[in-house]
Amino acid sequence: MALILDGKAAAASIKEKLQRDVQVMAVNGLRPPHLAAILVGNDGASETYVFAKKKACDACGFFSTVIRLPEDISEAALLQEIASINHNPDIDGLIVQLPLPAHINEALVMDAIAPEKDVDGFHDQNIGKLAKGNPAFIPATPLGILLLLQEYGVEVSGKHCVVVGRSNIVGRPLSILLSLPGEQGNATVTLCHSRTRDLAKYTRDADILVAALGKPRFIAADMVKPGAVVVDVGITRVDAPELKSGYRLLGDVDFDAVLPHCAAITPVPGGVGPMTIAGLLMNTMKARKTQLNFPPHTA
Ligand code: NDP
Repeated sequence: MALILDGKAAAASIKEKLQRDVQVMAVNGLRPPHLAAILVGNDGASETYVFAKKKACDACGFFSTVIRLPEDISEAALLQEIASINHNPDIDGLIVQLPLPAHINEALVMDAIAPEKDVDGFHDQNIGKLAKGNPAFIPATPLGILLLLQEYGVEVSGKHCVVVGRSNIVGRPLSILLSLPGEQGNATVTLCHSRTRDLAKYTRDADILVAALGKPRFIAADMVKPGAVVVDVGITRVDAPELKSGYRLLGDVDFDAVLPHCAAITPVPGGVGPMTIAGLLMNTMKARKTQLNFPPHTA
């Protein structure tokens, strides 16, 4: 039976380390890291994600501030809000929850965040540094995936990693990171997307398969090489009237069918999701320590 890569447990141990760092800061008379999150509009899923991030900050002893802005806020007013946080020395990290309303240019907003507070790692400067293998904020989901593989001793070097999905927040940065020289890289990487012909030909050759396409249960058992490690990034809400919440979360992998074939697999929920939040917290701690010139970084 496959090993379950338990993101909840791995995230809990990262959070404990961060709590200890906060305690050390307190002993030295320093305030904890402070994360600000801008939430535009009332999208249910975005509210849930921001709430989860705030709760995780609270649990680690970080400060957090959620700035709620109306759906019809102008782009200029949003940029002004970001500029004021950029200049606020009491805030170390800033995220703007995506997606934004259609009238706002997402790329412009991402690049308005000060690179040293860009704990989501979406600023062009951070992406450029990441691509060159220089120190940068690594986007939270790819960071969380690397940490989870590390936690379970999954060797990446020399392996064929197939990443399905080329978004700027998950697939593309992860594919770059896995291919870079270094302890958590040195893989041979294939990046697949919606125009890939005969996708299964590639996925079946993967030693490590990462599904980040946003199509529930898309990866079937016959698309997975026996003994592969499978990382399921997908989170899709599907209606489930029988549940109190009214919905259930599904990953991109047909978990029950793939489980008997693979060596290890992440569940949904409880896999990559908690690790993404842990990655964000680690980036926020890193921003705070960089500001303080306070080595070493956690983990
Ligand atoms: P995007 O919609 O931005 O990107 C999806 C990617 O999948 C695109 O590159 C697209 O190709 C590709 N794709 C779509 N259909 C197919 C197909 N049939 N075959 C091959 N490739 C396909 O999604 P995100 O990267 O933002 O998110 C992906 C999933 O991960 C979502 O379910 C999201 O909710 C989840 N997610 C989970 C997180 C977590 O913490 N667990 C964090 C972030 C996201 P193309 O470029 O050609 O259109």
